[in-house]
Amino acid sequence: MSQQRRITIIGGGLAGPLLACLLADDGNEVHILERRGDPRAAGYQGGRSINLALSARGLQALDQVGLKREVLATVVPMRGRMMHDTNGRMAFSPYSVIEGQAINSVSRGGLNCMLLDAACSRSNVRVSFEVQITDINVETGSVTWTDADGVSAITEADLLVGADGAGSAVRAAMHAATPVDAGTEFVQSSYKELTIPAGPGGAWQLPEHALHIWPRGHYMMIGLPNADGSFTCTCFWPTKGRDSFEEVATPEAIVAFFKKNFADAVPLMPDLVEDYLANPVGPLGTVRCEQYHHGSTTVLIGDAAHAIVPFFGQGMNAAFQDCLRLAATLRDCADQGEALAAYNHTQQPDGAAIAEFSLENFIEMRDKTGSRIFRLRQRIGKQLNRLFPTWYVPRYNLVSFTTIPYAQVKRRTQRQQWWVLGMSLAFIAGVILMILWILGTI
Ligand SMILES: Cc1cc2nc3c(=O)[nH]c(=O)nc-3n(C[C@H](O)[C@H](O)[C@H](O)COP(=O)(O)OP(=O)(O)OC[C@H]3O[C@@H](n4cnc5c(N)ncnc54)[C@H](O)[C@@H]3O)c2cc1C
Repeated sequence: MSQQRRITIIGGGLAGPLLACLLADDGNEVHILERRGDPRAAGYQGGRSINLALSARGLQALDQVGLKREVLATVVPMRGRMMHDTNGRMAFSPYSVIEGQAINSVSRGGLNCMLLDAACSRSNVRVSFEVQITDINVETGSVTWTDADGVSAITEADLLVGADGAGSAVRAAMHAATPVDAGTEFVQSSYKELTIPAGPGGAWQLPEHALHIWPRGHYMMIGLPNADGSFTCTCFWPTKGRDSFEEVATPEAIVAFFKKNFADAVPLMPDLVEDYLANPVGPLGTVRCEQYHHGSTTVLIGDAAHAIVPFFGQGMNAAFQDCLRLAATLRDCADQGEALAAYNHTQQPDGAAIAEFSLENFIEMRDKTGSRIFRLRQRIGKQLNRLFPTWYVPRYNLVSFTTIPYAQVKRRTQRQQWWVLGMSLAFIAGVILMILWILGTI
């Protein structure tokens, strides 16, 4: 029941161009307004490699716009976590009992360029770069903006989409009309990206098919492989106080801190001090938005609706799932207001669920992955999954390797926990009864 609409998307990052492809394929006229310059012209190629974990939800969306195969040709699959202890010993823990199941390390810049290429290849998509938005009217869907030459324009639309990231101007305009934004909750940690360059001949200097973690209690470093043989490492440390970015701020302190905590990585990072001092510290927060649409004219997707902390590697994947869901509801409902309400009905609880999982995974990666008890519990979870594959699937696997909506994953894992608890109690009761019977007391 698709009908042709004029649609403005603010934001040409990851979600904006993907949604543009889906909507254009349904016959809509799409105009993307992006604040930055065109990354295909210069930008990413010369910059640092920054990568993201791409999993089932993201791949499903890329498949719908014909990009899955092209993107997969550029990724490095990661089959599990490689934990590094302070002595430099490594321990590998696979993500799945299913052979070949992996998450994929993809270049953010490369993916952004592929998505923009795909959007621009559709005759009914137009992209304007280097725009300054000066007014957003969420009642009418019209946007006032100036182009790179300072020329002003007004774009009228049947639907306005906010794909403008965590600090969304569209969300702010919606909130000014009707309060929807419950604020951004920052965690007390921030992040900084560093690089392990490729070794001689472009070889990876660490095993490449893993997400590397240096868990150290209240702080950690992770490393994801890039196709060019390098690794992008991200330090997640407290912003202030003990073991923080504020404390580790001089060349001597940087070298000492890394030698103490990440000794095996130091010889692999020849530019450690220069990188550390040059690269910015980024904040980490969760955007809590109570409603993702304003009436029948304006809607939010991706980080604009639900920016999350990056510890489940799901922000982009969730954003891509929003795109699929929004395109499907617009295709299925003739009434645009009903379509946006239906989109909100599923995606808002999903956004809240993945925000919660991501915060929980921060503690898991940072504090628990180094612990033997945690690793034993993980092994038991995997054994249950192997023995009862339809009945018990660990949460990580439901999130990363299926497209089951996050809110359903939450309900299912809660049920699974109760079953495991019930079975464990029944087993213990059985053992006690047997001992009593052997002792002749019953
Ligand atoms: C350290 C870190 C690691 C991460 N790792 C992962 C991972 O492994 N896996 C994963 O799935 N996700 C990860 N994420 C999350 C992921 O980056 C985001 O969820 C994803 O980029 C969201 O896409 P988006 O299109 O909604 O927003 P963005 O990618 O932020 O794009 C928003 C776009 O809007 C533009 N814009 C903003 N304001 C305006 C304006 N006023 N006018 C015009 N344009 C505007 C911006 O320039 C930008 O291009 C990570 C995030 C961080 C910070």
